[in-house]
Amino acid sequence: MLQIKEMYQQLGISSEVYCLGEEVLKSLKTRFEKMDEIAEYNQMKVLSAMQKNKVSAECMGSSTGYGYNDFGRETLEKVYADTFHTEAALVRPQITCGTHALAIALFGNLRPGDELFSPVGKPYDTLEEVIGIRPSNGSLAEYEVTYSQVELLPDGSFDYKAIRKAINERTKLVTIQRSKGYLTRPSFSVQQIGELIAFVKSIKSDVICMVDNCYGEFVDTVEPSDVGADLVVGSLIKNPGGGLAPIGGYIAGKRKYVESASYRMTSPGLGMEVGATLGVNRSFFQGFFLAPMVTKGALKGAVFAANIYERLGFPVIPNGKEPRQDIIQAVTLGTPERVIAFCKGIQAAAPVDSYVDPEPWDMPGYDSQVIMAAGAFVQGSSIELSADGPMHEPYAVYFQGGLTWEHAKLGILMSVQKLLDAGLIELL
Ligand SMILES: *Cc1c(COP(=O)(O)O)cnc(C)c1O
Repeated sequence: MLQIKEMYQQLGISSEVYCLGEEVLKSLKTRFEKMDEIAEYNQMKVLSAMQKNKVSAECMGSSTGYGYNDFGRETLEKVYADTFHTEAALVRPQITCGTHALAIALFGNLRPGDELFSPVGKPYDTLEEVIGIRPSNGSLAEYEVTYSQVELLPDGSFDYKAIRKAINERTKLVTIQRSKGYLTRPSFSVQQIGELIAFVKSIKSDVICMVDNCYGEFVDTVEPSDVGADLVVGSLIKNPGGGLAPIGGYIAGKRKYVESASYRMTSPGLGMEVGATLGVNRSFFQGFFLAPMVTKGALKGAVFAANIYERLGFPVIPNGKEPRQDIIQAVTLGTPERVIAFCKGIQAAAPVDSYVDPEPWDMPGYDSQVIMAAGAFVQGSSIELSADGPMHEPYAVYFQGGLTWEHAKLGILMSVQKLLDAGLIELL
C-alpha cells in the first residue's frame, strides 16, 4: 500500500489528496461491486455474440476499394446486432462520428412532409443543425421534414399529456436521447425509455422509435433495443469502441430501418454492400470486446468524481448516490479559475500530451470560450479521460471517460491537487 502512495507522489499527488481519495473510495465499495457485476454480464453478452457468429482470424482482414464481400465487416455487424438483440446493424468507419450516425438514420428514414418528434426536450447541440432547429445548409428542414418537441416536466419526467397531443398523422419518427449530454436534465434509464416507447406506440403503432444511445452503451445490462426501440445509434469513439476504434459509428435495429439508413450512408442502390474497412476490423472487434470493461472504468471514475467533489462542497450532477445511466459527470465549480485548474489536472494525468497546458479558446459553434482537457490516443475520443468547461455561469466542468478505472482515478486526484495547489479549494 505504501508503495502505491509513493507512486502517486511521484506523479504529483500529495499525501493528503491521496488519503482523501482512499477515504471516499471506502464508501463506494458496494457500488463498485454492482458495476463489476454489470460489466461481467455484458462481457459475457459480447463474448457469446462473438462465439455465436464464429468470429475468426479471417475477420481481422481488410478490404479496399468498393469493399465488396468484406467478411470481417459483415460478421462484426452481426455481432453488434446480436449484442443489441436487433435484426441488423451498420458498423462502419465511413460513419465519421455520432452526429453523422444520427443524421444518416434520420435522413434515411424521413421523407418530405414527415414530422420528427422529440418527446424529451431539446436534443444534443449538434443535432440542432441536422434537424434545422438552427437554420442550416442541408438540414432536414430544407427537405421539408418538420420537427416538434415536448419539454420534460419540471421534475424531469415525461409529459405524457403533451406527448399524446403532439403526435399526429405526419409523425414518422420519434427521437429519444438517453444521455442528458451537456444539459442539466436527468439521463433516462433503459426502463424509462421502454415505458416512453410503449406509450408512443400505443398512440401510433407504426412510428419509428430511435434512441440516441451515445454514452449509454453497457452502462446497464439492457439496451434501449431490448425495450422496444426500433433503432439505436451511437459513436465508436465513445463506449462501444472500447477506446480502440479510431473512428466510426453504429446504427442497430429493425432491418428495414437500418437498410434505409444505409442508402443514405452510401447511395441508393448500394446501401450496406459497399464500404471498405481499410484495416479497422481488428480494432472494431477488439474494442467492442473490451467495451464493457472500459465503460465500467469510466463509470467508476464518474462516481468517484461525484463523491469527491460533493465532499469538497460542490454541486454535482448526477449526485454521489444516484444510479447512473451514462458516463458523464458534471461538477459546478463556480469560478473560471477553478474550471481552468480542474482541466489542467485532467490534462496533467494524461498518457499523451500530459505536458501541455489547456487554455480557454473560441471554439467554432459556441457562444463563449471553452476549455478542454484531452490527452487521448484517438483525437476527440471521449471514452478516454477528458473534460471540458464552457467559460460562463455557472462555471461547470463536464468530465468523462478513462480507458481504465485506475487512470480515471489519477485524473480526478490530479484535478483536486491542481485546485488545492492554486489555493482554490480547502480540504475539509
Ligand atoms: C456525443 C454525442 C452525440 C454526437 O456525437 P459526436 O460523435 O460528437 O458527433 C450525440 N448525442 C449525444 C447524447 C452525445 O453524447
